[in-house]
Amino acid sequence: MIYLDYAATTPQREEVTQAMLPYFSEQFGNPSSAYEIGRESKKAIMEARRSIASTINALDKEIYFTSGGTESNNWVIKTLAQDRIKNNGKCHIITDAIEHHAVLNSCKEMEAWGCDVTYLPVDDKGRVNPEAVRRAIRPDTALISVMMANNEIGTIQPVRQIALIAKERNIPFHVDAVQAYGHMPIDVKELGIDLMSVSGHKFYGPKGIGFLYIRDGITINRFMNGGMQEKGLRAGTENVASIVGMAKASSLAIEELEAEMKREISLRDYFINRIRQEIPLVKLNGADADERLANNINFSFGFVESESLLIMLDMKGICVSAGSACATGDKKPSHVLMAIGLSEEMANGTLRFTIGRHTTRKDLDYVLCELKEAVENLRAASIKYEEYIKKYQPVSAGRILY
Ligand SMILES: *Cc1c(COP(=O)(O)O)cnc(C)c1O
Repeated sequence: MIYLDYAATTPQREEVTQAMLPYFSEQFGNPSSAYEIGRESKKAIMEARRSIASTINALDKEIYFTSGGTESNNWVIKTLAQDRIKNNGKCHIITDAIEHHAVLNSCKEMEAWGCDVTYLPVDDKGRVNPEAVRRAIRPDTALISVMMANNEIGTIQPVRQIALIAKERNIPFHVDAVQAYGHMPIDVKELGIDLMSVSGHKFYGPKGIGFLYIRDGITINRFMNGGMQEKGLRAGTENVASIVGMAKASSLAIEELEAEMKREISLRDYFINRIRQEIPLVKLNGADADERLANNINFSFGFVESESLLIMLDMKGICVSAGSACATGDKKPSHVLMAIGLSEEMANGTLRFTIGRHTTRKDLDYVLCELKEAVENLRAASIKYEEYIKKYQPVSAGRILY
């Protein structure tokens, strides 16, 4: 099997599993209990918090464990909006059109509560314009939420510039960094981020665990009512094993970050160049090298249905994604691809390849070979393609179709 869907999830590292094991057996104590095994669990959480905080230049007390990226995003958007509605009766959120559904659908829900939401457009590479953020600000703006890097097309947003604007106006700035954390350096202080969502399973950690960074000085209400866990903001007995596992995954990811980024960038660009050279009528979606995640490759293939392409590759043992994992299954074209201006036809012929620690050049050579053949076969059966060829013969390899 060749797995090229690391943006959907990553395989948990063996070191992570090993670090977690004791907490499934002898180290089962509740961190809130006062006796020895309880205190040991509490200590494990403390150490995990410290270790994770150090990877983003945060204080220990600024890290709050959650069940993942979805929960962290829901927490920020819903509690800030509800608090504002309760106290002011009015509320406004600024976000953008290509956020993850955990952000978009939380915003939609807050619209039903009476909150206004501005969904800023993005340019053809998927970038939010910081000046558009500035223009969208209103006296009742309670939150600006823009992701660090997009999960479908890999575009990295100008987070630092947006943070400066948010700070000028004293508006909390939230960043969904689920795709970025562990894949590019993040210093929350240097970037000026107030709130940041991260998920364990996107960087070789466990599923169902994540954290929310809440800058010291930012007031945000509790998301779960109950006991006093996570300083009373997120009640519920801690997922000790997963917290320990995520911290392990995090320290390994940060340790290896520079070398792994370099390796992935070189594989990414190799794959991009070969597709462009060897498969005609394709379009690379997303930004150029320095504004693009090291592991993301997203191509539209003209005259091809990505669902068919995906199945043909699956039969060869290749795992890729059409759009994003979350969008697969519903038939609507991806909101991200629509927002960057693709036609519905091109959007429906789009595949995302996301590489990772286990990807080799040999894997990519094999995938390219199978991809070429699958695209050719699908086009050979396409009437539209036949008509196109008649009209524009000869089709030069690598010609870009818009
Ligand atoms: C995966 C993902 C999420 C959701 O995280 P979970 O931990 O799976 O809930 C949120 N935002 C982005 C950008 C993602 O890629």
